[in-house]
Amino acid sequence: MANTKMILVILDGLGYDAATQEMGYMEGMVQVGKASKWKVKTALPSNSRPLYETLHTGMTPIEHGVLTNDIVRLSTCDHLFSICRANEKTTAAAAYSWISELYNKSPYDSVEDRETDDESLNIQHGRFYEKDDYPDSELFADAELLIRRHHPDYMLIHPMGCDYKGHVFGGTSDQYFHQASKADQLLATYIPNWIRKDYEIFVTADHGMDEKGSHGGTADIVQYVPLYHVARNPIPQSSNIINQCSIAPTILNRMNIDIPIAMQLPPIKT
Ligand SMILES: [Zn+2]
Repeated sequence: MANTKMILVILDGLGYDAATQEMGYMEGMVQVGKASKWKVKTALPSNSRPLYETLHTGMTPIEHGVLTNDIVRLSTCDHLFSICRANEKTTAAAAYSWISELYNKSPYDSVEDRETDDESLNIQHGRFYEKDDYPDSELFADAELLIRRHHPDYMLIHPMGCDYKGHVFGGTSDQYFHQASKADQLLATYIPNWIRKDYEIFVTADHGMDEKGSHGGTADIVQYVPLYHVARNPIPQSSNIINQCSIAPTILNRMNIDIPIAMQLPPIKT
């Protein structure tokens, strides 16, 4: 456990029920004990940029201050990337451009920031995209390239497919559920290899999606998202509903990195 390498997959916009119904590979891993699963209640407001910051800082939007998608600035808190860098870990991300804006440079430069390889940045190796319909399959390939080239200690993988299909067709649509199935097939393509490379993997979402193709508020379909943990010895699962703010300290705990005081919730251990 001394040098646990970590992959966090944020499937943007994927609600708990769609994941449970459609993600046969992930659910199968849970059934045979190779993964654990929890139900997570997101922080509020249940929008993307506020909750990217919540997932990376363990703080609610009201605490960290990224309250809307339109607040374009670097994070002002300790976050998973900066904490990993302070512990001499290698970091990488294949993610939406807002992740670059939160942790590397703000505002995002469509050309200069698209491919980032700079040891001095919080995200040392980044591949970023700006279009919401950027295909998940392309994004996973971007991520796999970074993993093969740089063997990062902390890797964020952040596809937008479920959020995109949810906004266009609604969060109870066939298209949205089918997109969840496609994400599961991509995970099935890559996860066995990541396990062989001694990675632990968390798979979760920033928020879900309502039937009208919207999110931001308190509806169960919006606020409940899955959390899966794939590892040689996964954390024992429970039926407790997990606070989204506990995901960041859990990742640090699994990486044997000290948790900063600002992350107030304890890591998930059971
Ligand atoms: Zn969205």
